[in-house]
Amino acid sequence: MLTKQDLVRNEKYLKLNEDGAFVIDNADDLEIIDFHTHMCNALPLKYIDPNSKGNKLTYPTLPAVEKIDFSVPYWTKEETKINRKGLLPIIRYGLNAYDVLQDMMKGGTYDNCFKSQGDNQIGINVILPLSTKKCDCSPEALKIVADHPNRFVAFCSVHPDDSEMKEKIVRYKALGAKGFKLKISELELKNDFTSLITLFKTCYEAELPVILHTGAIPVDQERTSKLLYKYLKSTRVELFGRLLAELPKDFVFIFGHSGISEYKLVAEYLKKYPASYAEVSSQSQQSISYLIAEVGSQRLLFGSDWPALPQAITLSRVLLATEDNKTARAQILSKNAKTLLGL
Ligand SMILES: [Zn+2]
Repeated sequence: MLTKQDLVRNEKYLKLNEDGAFVIDNADDLEIIDFHTHMCNALPLKYIDPNSKGNKLTYPTLPAVEKIDFSVPYWTKEETKINRKGLLPIIRYGLNAYDVLQDMMKGGTYDNCFKSQGDNQIGINVILPLSTKKCDCSPEALKIVADHPNRFVAFCSVHPDDSEMKEKIVRYKALGAKGFKLKISELELKNDFTSLITLFKTCYEAELPVILHTGAIPVDQERTSKLLYKYLKSTRVELFGRLLAELPKDFVFIFGHSGISEYKLVAEYLKKYPASYAEVSSQSQQSISYLIAEVGSQRLLFGSDWPALPQAITLSRVLLATEDNKTARAQILSKNAKTLLGL
């Protein structure tokens, strides 16, 4: 059976720490800002104290070792002929999403965060709260920065249907939020993007960069039920990319995850909209190299999606993709983020 140890043996920048977790293997001095992270108290559902101790992370988002393929986005071997018809696959996706959120809620603590920052040479985590219509997690994200100002930067997150959307965004900006994050789907918006455009315009006026979860995993439409297909495609890149036509040319929009499997489409939007960025969590060495070749390295941002994913995996992909380009490496790891965040 393949083990994690087998997996890292041929990986130049990846190793296991004393707990068997993926960490980077690198001796050079690096300045790193992780542009895409979460914390247990800035997630919807219920409040968890980030000072909790002893909670272990299990990363249920990661595929099983034998299914890992680092050469593709999301690092998951393409499973041909996988059948996603019927109710069971929907239930399985639902349960996995629940597991992922539970793991993030349990393991997204200060202890685990500082350990991961230390293991991976990361100076600052940008905290992206995940607000829903019922739960605004922005104050918790701001509290994290108040607790540890040298280790974190906070974004705010307000649902487009929040009746105080405008006032809140202005207030959070005044309280120190450096940007705006949202995870929303076509299903939730019922295919009406009017409120989202209004929200984008509010962020533009408040001079806050906006990052959205964008992208989908590859799905074989023939072998997937209609409902699951719609769900899996409900955050696809074009849904949000096409909205940029409605906004000023200098609106700063960041494609979270670089669109996962849709990174080539993200590159097209970056060419069309010069103020847009791509954050590379879950990408491969090959896809990051593709983005650098197509759009340059000035608008790419390293992010990991910790604690959903280990910080080291995307980070080691960036190091591989920038092996012969130290300028690009510095830009992607921290320089571009510093410019965007005004640090
Ligand atoms: Zn995330």
